[in-house]
Amino acid sequence: MSGWLVIAGLGPGDDALITPEVSAVLAEATDVVGYIPYVDQVAHHPNLTRHSSDNRVELDRARHALFMATAGHRVVVVSSGDPGVFAMAAAVFEAIETGDSSWRDLNIRVLPGVTAMLAASAACGAPLGHDFCAINLSDNLKPWRVIEKRLRLAVGADFAMAFYNPSSKSRPDGFGRALQTLKDACNDARPMIFARNVSRPDQMINVVPLTDATPEMADMRTVVLLGSSQTRLIQRSGAPLVYTPRSVSAWAIHPRISSGVPASVRVGTQGRAIMTTGRPNTRAASILARAPVPPEFLDTIKSMLWSRNSARSASGVNGPREMITSWLGNGGGVRGGSTRRIT
Ligand code: SAH
Repeated sequence: MSGWLVIAGLGPGDDALITPEVSAVLAEATDVVGYIPYVDQVAHHPNLTRHSSDNRVELDRARHALFMATAGHRVVVVSSGDPGVFAMAAAVFEAIETGDSSWRDLNIRVLPGVTAMLAASAACGAPLGHDFCAINLSDNLKPWRVIEKRLRLAVGADFAMAFYNPSSKSRPDGFGRALQTLKDACNDARPMIFARNVSRPDQMINVVPLTDATPEMADMRTVVLLGSSQTRLIQRSGAPLVYTPRSVSAWAIHPRISSGVPASVRVGTQGRAIMTTGRPNTRAASILARAPVPPEFLDTIKSMLWSRNSARSASGVNGPREMITSWLGNGGGVRGGSTRRIT
């Protein structure tokens, strides 16, 4: 019989979250390969040989699976959650790309699973209900400065976020650093969710304001979610419900205006948008940041010093003509940026 290789996700822990197609393929397998606790999770059957290995040997494990499949075995490589999310699928493809050319002709399939962030999101509401991103906080396979840059850019884009591998014994300080970066970049009390052992009997969900989050709240069995600036809490008698609305009614992007940040854009109703560029006056920028809807926004514009001093009327903001204004910032005579209607 010709061999095949399947890379399968076992979901976050509860057997009820293993998909029927993964269960079916495991029942046909001759060999199961993976990290010890995941291989242990697979149901026993007499013709199945288990190949458990430690966590840090993904490429060796992938090559071993490929050799066995080439030799005619029916091999399942298992990951927790989804195999394509910080897990074995990419490791197997890396081994194929750099390995024996015959591996490219193998019968290979990837079977998806329920990834931790989706199980965690479901357990507390719908914090990932609008645009979001997932970031692996381990610096085993990428430098720390890449992680910090991605955190800042994700906050700037106003994504909700999911953080995998927040902390481990070999990286005791990493999550504290990430948390400080997030607190500095967000500068607010949006909800942070610590979801530990999701779907397992000892599941724990802890929702705290970002300002109260501490490094000890996460370990390697925790996936951490952070809301966007729009994420809300619904208080009720039990645990609160957390959700991020599907629509962006006021502004598309909550600006984090600081010197050196080239541009931030807020979109009003009916597609109107305001972009501030350069080094905006901080007070003007924060007024812009808070104005929720165009009528109030217009009032705000009219009351601003720079609009009174402008050669052109502030009414141009929502009128037919473009308004471009620049001003001298009040913080030490730094030249300000410009504000213009961009729709
Ligand atoms: N492929 C997996 C992720 C592997 S990385 C998936 O799709 O879920 C390992 C990280 O996943 C852990 O450090 C933790 O952040 C997260 N994780 C996996 N299972 C989890 C669970 N049941 N509860 C909470 N976090 C989990």
